[in-house]
Amino acid sequence: MPKRILVIEDEEAIRKVLRAFLEDAGYRVILAGDGMEGLEKYHEHVPDLVLLDLMLPRIDGFAVCQLLRKESRVPIIMLTALDDDVSQMKGFDLLADDYITKPFSMPLVVRRIEAVLRRTGQEHPAEGNVIRYKGLMLDIDSYTVLADGKGVALTTREFEILKLFLENQGRVLTRDYLLDSIWGYDYFGGEKVVNTHIKNIRKKLGNDYIETIRGVGYKIEKETP
Ligand code: CA
Repeated sequence: MPKRILVIEDEEAIRKVLRAFLEDAGYRVILAGDGMEGLEKYHEHVPDLVLLDLMLPRIDGFAVCQLLRKESRVPIIMLTALDDDVSQMKGFDLLADDYITKPFSMPLVVRRIEAVLRRTGQEHPAEGNVIRYKGLMLDIDSYTVLADGKGVALTTREFEILKLFLENQGRVLTRDYLLDSIWGYDYFGGEKVVNTHIKNIRKKLGNDYIETIRGVGYKIEKETP
């Protein structure tokens, strides 16, 4: 699956060049023309890296960086025309992973992106703290779930059940196994609680990802690449 890069940049010419070059380098590119749109697109697509211009209308790059960091460790590379140390330090203080000063050469941008993805361990998405499955995205650190880009309000237990299924794709999980794994061995409430939780998860996701295997338990189909 190609890495997805969100480019938040208000200058159309730069957006276009970045898109052409990054797509050539094998990335999927999502574009946003200002800070607001950038945050919206971030939530919609949950990209693997953000290229973030500093000077932006509506919300500037620093503020976007701050807001993103409140909820995510997504690698962020700041694009800045301000070639002074103060602004660069400020960018790092806000936990950007790198910065590139304009004007920049496209091969340099690609190399910096590769380096940041390598350093932050994002080149192997399976090793990150995010599980993707079809239209779903589970962020293990923040216990958030997106279904087709929209937030889904799962309870902690529902989240853990869904995570367990995604870690065991193609495997039938019995109600007993689910009870032991999620509720613990000392839970005596009976198996009905499992059914209720599965029902709620299905309803909230609006999709029958979890299949009932009659008389045995439940299964989530293995995602075919
Ligand atoms: Ca700008």
